[in-house]
Amino acid sequence: MATIFEKIVNGDLSADIVYRDEQVTAFRDIRPAAPTHVLIVPNRSIPTLNDVQPEDEPLLGHMLYVAKQLAQQEGIDDDGYRLIINCNQHGGQEVFHLHLHLLGGRSLGPMVMRK
Ligand code: AMP
Repeated sequence: MATIFEKIVNGDLSADIVYRDEQVTAFRDIRPAAPTHVLIVPNRSIPTLNDVQPEDEPLLGHMLYVAKQLAQQEGIDDDGYRLIINCNQHGGQEVFHLHLHLLGGRSLGPMVMRK
């Protein structure tokens, strides 16, 4: 069954798309956790980071490069930002289509809540 993100990539579900090329689509998170919260997703469905293969290395690099460009476009590059990939249950992954969160626009605090 198609995930929400596959539907967005295929144009079957609307989203606030900020960037698109032959490898990735980037759109604003529907429940933003920061003033800028963009999701960068591969156009091809890969469920989790555990599923990436050696041939996906260029795609992963491209996702990071697009994140850097979008940070510039959003005007958050100088102040700084955070990139997150959640994987499976302990990572808090909710949508099983690989995605990179780009977060910024305010100070984001500690990286992870300490127990
Ligand atoms: P994760 O927990 O890493 O799987 O993140 C999934 C993210 O997708 C969450 O931040 C959600 O707010 C976001 N999300 C869920 N549905 C949509 C949607 N239709 N459009 C944009 N973002 C969404």
